[in-house]
Amino acid sequence: MSIVVQKFGGTSVGSIERIQAVAEIIARTYEQGKRCVAVVSAMGKSTDQLVGMAKEIHPHPSPREMDMLLATGEQVSIALLTMALHRKGLKARSLTGWQAGITTDCVHGRAMVHDVNTETITTALDQGEIVVVAGFQGISSQREITTLGRGGSDTTAVVLAAALGADYCEIYTDVEGVYTADPRVIPAAQKMDEISYQEMLELAHLGAGVLHPRSVEAALRNKVKLVVRSSFVNESGTWIKGENEMETSHHVSGIAHDLQVARIKVLGLPNHEETLTRLFGLLAEAHINVDIIVQSEHDHERVDVAFSVNEEVGLEARQVLEAAQSELGFAKILYEGGLAKVSAVGVGMMARPGVAAKMFATLSEAGIRVKMVSTSEIKISCVVEREQALEGARRLHSAFGLDRIEVKV
Ligand code: ASP
Ligand code: MG
Repeated sequence: MSIVVQKFGGTSVGSIERIQAVAEIIARTYEQGKRCVAVVSAMGKSTDQLVGMAKEIHPHPSPREMDMLLATGEQVSIALLTMALHRKGLKARSLTGWQAGITTDCVHGRAMVHDVNTETITTALDQGEIVVVAGFQGISSQREITTLGRGGSDTTAVVLAAALGADYCEIYTDVEGVYTADPRVIPAAQKMDEISYQEMLELAHLGAGVLHPRSVEAALRNKVKLVVRSSFVNESGTWIKGENEMETSHHVSGIAHDLQVARIKVLGLPNHEETLTRLFGLLAEAHINVDIIVQSEHDHERVDVAFSVNEEVGLEARQVLEAAQSELGFAKILYEGGLAKVSAVGVGMMARPGVAAKMFATLSEAGIRVKMVSTSEIKISCVVEREQALEGARRLHSAFGLDRIEVKV
């Protein structure tokens, strides 16, 4: 009998009524003869509330105690959802992360799953039970409760689907699927029927909040078929699968934007082998994630390096480098906040030239200057002024043929 893993996010289990609606979705799947494993997040905004309480008590709470605290959120929802299933006359059992056999490394707050021992789950499934597992948590080899990082329940669902050999993994959320752009700011965005793992991974890293990037990585590695769909309306959602299983491939499948970008230019660095290592080594030691890097060589003596970071850590990055000015030996540092990044993502661009040219032409026609560029095989990102970013994203969405066609009646 086939196994299905169904994950329900915070808004999907945000109230008693929502929990009952989720129980109904699971019941329908169970009645189709499937073996059902549900993974749930904490109710509504309860994880945020727990974080808030901790911060009121201590500005820097111990990571171990944070995990102890945050893991309770999911424990509330698994018990309530299981009771809702019982109320429907179904056999069901809730399991915390450790009871479900999810072991992780010891890094509190962003633990990685090492292994899943599915014995308890399969025994319960064999007895005809629906299994409801707490998302976002596991146990380390030191028997410490760990959490997988914010949004980590998606990853729990995918690793369970992989370990159980599930047919597919459904991610139920409050939107109808994955969109070609953020529909809140680009009204012409459309829901995609399908998208490849690689594209989804780029979009998740570029900030499409619908899936935790690590869950997409795990799905790709284990070839778990994923579908993102709404728990509020019964629509087909978006399938995430291997590129070769897809029916269509566009040049560009989606447009993403990130409105929190800063650029730092370090001018007049000594032009020798160790310069980049030392500069980016200092930033890495400060746990500052660098995004786009551009180096330009003046002559044999001097180079300039420009890089972009999330604006939240921009000033900190500048401080780290300023403090090391004499060690690094640069002449000047320039800081520019208020920037943004717009990106076009699509596996189709691998085989087709001209996507970058079209992107630059579209932006320049709109009077938008591109300040930095970075590319991967399936992505082109441009750093632009923040005020122009959404206009740029809208124009790109339309230029790459992604706009929804309004049906006039
Ligand atoms: N409850 C956790 C969070 O809010 C995990 C999740 O929802 O995926 O981040
Ligand atoms: Mg989420």
